[in-house]
Amino acid sequence: SKSPQPRPGILDIAAYVPGKEHAPGVAKVHKLSSNETPLGASPRAIEAFQAAAFNLERYPDGQARALRDAIGAVHGLNPANILCGNGSDELLGLICHTYLSPGDEGIVTEHGFLVYKIQITAAGGRPVTVKERNATVDVDAILAAVTERTKLVFLANPANPTGTYIPVDEVRRLHAGLPEGVLLVLDAAYAEYVRRNDYAAGLELVSANRNVVMTRTFSKIYGLAGLRIGWMYAPPEVIDAVDRVRGPFNLSAASIAAGAAAVRDQAFVAEAVDHNLTWLEHVSRALEALGLTVTPSVTNFVLIHFPDEDGKRAVDADTFLTARGYILRAVAAYGFPNALRMTIGSQEANEGVIAALTDFMGRK
Ligand code: PMP
Repeated sequence: SKSPQPRPGILDIAAYVPGKEHAPGVAKVHKLSSNETPLGASPRAIEAFQAAAFNLERYPDGQARALRDAIGAVHGLNPANILCGNGSDELLGLICHTYLSPGDEGIVTEHGFLVYKIQITAAGGRPVTVKERNATVDVDAILAAVTERTKLVFLANPANPTGTYIPVDEVRRLHAGLPEGVLLVLDAAYAEYVRRNDYAAGLELVSANRNVVMTRTFSKIYGLAGLRIGWMYAPPEVIDAVDRVRGPFNLSAASIAAGAAAVRDQAFVAEAVDHNLTWLEHVSRALEALGLTVTPSVTNFVLIHFPDEDGKRAVDADTFLTARGYILRAVAAYGFPNALRMTIGSQEANEGVIAALTDFMGRK
């Protein structure tokens, strides 16, 4: 018998592989593979989540108004220009399905987040990959790759898995060089961690133009990855178009309630930023002292490069760390076969990784 055939291109997609969860045989595991916060979620968000349990027979508000209003109030944005998604992953997919016709091109960068390529391909488009320079996005290379078929440009800023960042002047230069018909998607999943005030400027770039959107998430600093909450700030025409493609009740009632409470608790966010900054510095310096190369990061993770002697030290280190309960992320699929990405965790987890890597690097 013959199975129904997916559309051309679908079976060329490599399905997304999430970070490992378990270390076989190890009782206590520190999962540092998915850039989750070690600090949990705001108690106010948890309370709102629990309160949502009393109305589960009702559909959620399909417009997620309470959440959009809260985001708008905190960030000084018009809620009409905000659209929420089941994680920012969903929004990235909706953008592709809204703007790409078969054969249209979406530009992504060499070490960029894999979801862009997956969704461009799923929508019938063609991902065009542009080289980076020193693990950092190269604006000139992106502009040089634009063709008549280019519809979307995806820029994670800060980028994952490198943790690098381009300042808003560079983003402006990129935008200025793009044709008006190309939509620039600024993926700012790690925005809150950045100690510069460029994100307000990024939002202004959206306000002032018709072809820029910014996506954000509650999965990282807000500690709500399990609820799947993302949002985008976009010009009215983009909101209108993407909203037509969106599923009717894409956020659960619990997500709407918890997200709204979380965004109103900015004191919690400030504490999380402090914790991260302290440990980002400490971990980076300690690993460099071991002779490892750490790409300078502005996020809640670091990309650790192992000595290149045999090109598989990272694989050995991964095995070594996993056996001790420290789960990092292998990033070969992102073009770094000899590196591991480590999320900044609790004090215990961070010190544990440093101690384990000290042992690992001391072995001959
Ligand atoms: N963009 C980037 C750069 C990310 O690292 C992630 C999380 N892996 C996402 C988007 C998606 O986040 P979420 O769907 O949880 O909002």
